Amino acid sequence: MSVLSQRDPEIAAIIADERVRQVESLEMIASENYASAAVLEATGSVFTNKYAEGYPGKRYYAGNQHSDRLETLAIERAKQLFGVEHANVQPSSGAEANMAAYFATVQPGDTIMGMELTQGGHLTHGSPVNFSGRLYNFVPYTVDREAEVIDMAEVRRLAREAKPKIIVAGATAYPRAIDFVAFGEIAHEVGAALMVDMSHIAGLVAGGMHLSPAPYADIITTTTHKTLRGPRGGMILSRLERAAAIDSAVFPGTQGGPHLHSIAGKAVCFGEALKPEFKDYARRIVENAAALAEGLIAGGLRLVSGGTDNHLILVDCNAKGISGLKAQNALQAANIVSNRNTIPYDQRSAYITSGLRLGTPALTSRGMGKDDMKRVAGWIARVLSDPDGEGVREAVRNEVVEFARAFPVPGISDAE
Ligand SMILES: *Cc1c(COP(=O)(O)O)cnc(C)c1O
Repeated sequence: MSVLSQRDPEIAAIIADERVRQVESLEMIASENYASAAVLEATGSVFTNKYAEGYPGKRYYAGNQHSDRLETLAIERAKQLFGVEHANVQPSSGAEANMAAYFATVQPGDTIMGMELTQGGHLTHGSPVNFSGRLYNFVPYTVDREAEVIDMAEVRRLAREAKPKIIVAGATAYPRAIDFVAFGEIAHEVGAALMVDMSHIAGLVAGGMHLSPAPYADIITTTTHKTLRGPRGGMILSRLERAAAIDSAVFPGTQGGPHLHSIAGKAVCFGEALKPEFKDYARRIVENAAALAEGLIAGGLRLVSGGTDNHLILVDCNAKGISGLKAQNALQAANIVSNRNTIPYDQRSAYITSGLRLGTPALTSRGMGKDDMKRVAGWIARVLSDPDGEGVREAVRNEVVEFARAFPVPGISDAE
């Protein structure tokens, strides 16, 4: 029995249930992944106990000799992994990384361009209910109606007109490669900084499966828990000339003490991503997404932009005459976990939606391959073709549970 199950059986039981859920379902939320046992161990370590306001060598508290070693190593690994001059590993999340990046670069009221939220942009790229939309004047760019890919001519036209101080490239539900070269040219033509929010694709960049923004971006923000497969957290990368502004925007600008336990997990994650195996992992994520896309199309589904270049797929549920909400719930009943999402020029609300977002990072972490993706696509097509069919959902669920149990979950199966 674990210490937790003795001291707090109620919470231990909830965590045990969550482990079973993670083992027995197909985790297809594109922003989720399974951190390794080593990442989980570091994240659950005694660094939880320590305050370390400031930066290595310049702390406001005593007792930070080991915190300094830890954070310095995390920074060095991050710089090596992404080929950048400066890394701030303290942001507690992607949202906080973005807040600090804006804070370091512009003033409230300034103009920023970001991707239209209903077409793939993130909440922190100007949503009116988010700090970003309340503090800054966001001008959204869109995807082409036909091709459903970012319209770079439109980005250029808008940038010349709006004269933003920052252009944000990066998305939360965009299945195609992003042209950082063109974004960089446009930004610098109009005197804007290019900020790349690579939260979703950081693992693909680290593994060489997406063009790195490092040579083109002035600021790069990211989460560490999506394709990068680390602990929950954020990070900001830049050249040296922006280092001081970014560091002071994180602390004391927007955060207090850094989460050293998360920084420990980040350092382990960067170490894992620096190994040659991670390149293979990134390649398999993308291959699996392509195989899944093919299978879904064969199953009669329409995919936004016709397919995928990365780890995620956006299904247009209109082809099946159902909403994203209905699709998400039907799949959940079959132990296939995904999230509904708006599609470009969606006719439904952001709550109901017409789309379904599917990703392969977590399934790939379990060792599933292209043939497995074909089976998964078959199950998804079956459920979505009969979303009210109790029998279908139950039959698929039984097959899914048996199938899923055969694939070990990193951080669960190897920690027991
Ligand atoms: C996930 C995500 C974020 C926010 O990350 P949190 O850790 O949830 O705050 C920011 N930007 C993009 C593009 C994301 O996909």
